[in-house]
Amino acid sequence: MSQEFLNIKDLKVSIGEKEILKGLNLSIGEGETHVIMGPNGAGKSTLGNTLMGKEEYEVTSGEITFMGEDLLEMSTDERAKKGLFMTFQNPIEVPGVRLSEFTRSACEAVGNRMSLWNFKKAAQEQMKVLSMDPSYLDRELNLGFSGGEKKKAEIFQLLMLKPKLAILDETDSGLDVDAVRIVSEGVKAYQEQTKGSLLIITHSTKILDSLKVDKVHVVVDGKVVAEGDASLISEINDNGFEKYMKA
Ligand code: ADP
Ligand code: MG
Repeated sequence: MSQEFLNIKDLKVSIGEKEILKGLNLSIGEGETHVIMGPNGAGKSTLGNTLMGKEEYEVTSGEITFMGEDLLEMSTDERAKKGLFMTFQNPIEVPGVRLSEFTRSACEAVGNRMSLWNFKKAAQEQMKVLSMDPSYLDRELNLGFSGGEKKKAEIFQLLMLKPKLAILDETDSGLDVDAVRIVSEGVKAYQEQTKGSLLIITHSTKILDSLKVDKVHVVVDGKVVAEGDASLISEINDNGFEKYMKA
């Protein structure tokens, strides 16, 4: 049953004293691609961080079930092992750790153990999808990477880790058109290779051009205030969020 993949019910989340999510409902079926749109500060990244189990985000009420299990009972590591993955608006730099080492340990941590030879072969294949030179594997993680290269490195990790649910938080923001196209092709390769589910937080339509979108959720002030099919994306791009903010 598709409804059993990810179910979020009446979720309330606070950071410190401030309530950010105020009764959010959202469901995703297995293998589906959903888009979240909403004005700045609506709580979109908070939703992603809460799904990953980041500690500052305190769930004060509501439920999250992932593949039939209570996600809120799991640690961040357990969630990653179950197949959750998120890209970040601002990817971190890790001096002294090469992209290849970082990605290989991440694969091992989620139970995807490979020999060094198999890892390198797989890594080189996925880099081709992203038009990345294999020499990036030997670079220190994100050190001196351009914005576009950081995003490509994240999509590379997505392709290597093969999570069941990937949350992309504004992966396309600040990228030039060529980088957006390549990131979008990488995300499409993830859909095709793993049949995984996607939750894409975005303001732009470009990354969505080549992807099949099953559902769009509009988040305003900590709640889902509207839902629809892919046509909602162009409607919002034409008219903005004003109508939803008044409602
Ligand atoms: P969005 O991603 O939709 O732009 P966010 O989820 O990042 O919105 O933020 C929602 C609200 O929560 C904002 O008012 C933001 O300032 C606040 N917020 C987010 N993260 C933190 C944090 N770590 N500490 C304090 N406030 C935060
Ligand atoms: Mg955000």
